[in-house]
Amino acid sequence: MPNAAKHADPEFRRIRDAMNRRSNANPGTTCRRCGLTLAERRKVKPKDIWTTGHPDLPGDHGYAPEHRSCNSSLGAQHANAKRLGFDYGL
Ligand SMILES: [Zn+2]
Repeated sequence: MPNAAKHADPEFRRIRDAMNRRSNANPGTTCRRCGLTLAERRKVKPKDIWTTGHPDLPGDHGYAPEHRSCNSSLGAQHANAKRLGFDYGL
């Protein structure tokens, strides 16, 4: 599913809003991609925020908190892989 369609899905938007509220309310929340809390991540990415990540990789289960920088980095990797002709089921 293209990114714009994924993000416009009403169910995703509802889940995202609730998950982002929970992530922001709990300083112990860790990122699915890097395993760091927001405070730890902000030592290298001071303006980072929480986003809700889709289950994009094998082994991912449902939506989960991800730093915006980690989520964007994954999106760029997908675009590069597609451009190079790799199709690994994403
Ligand atoms: Zn992260």
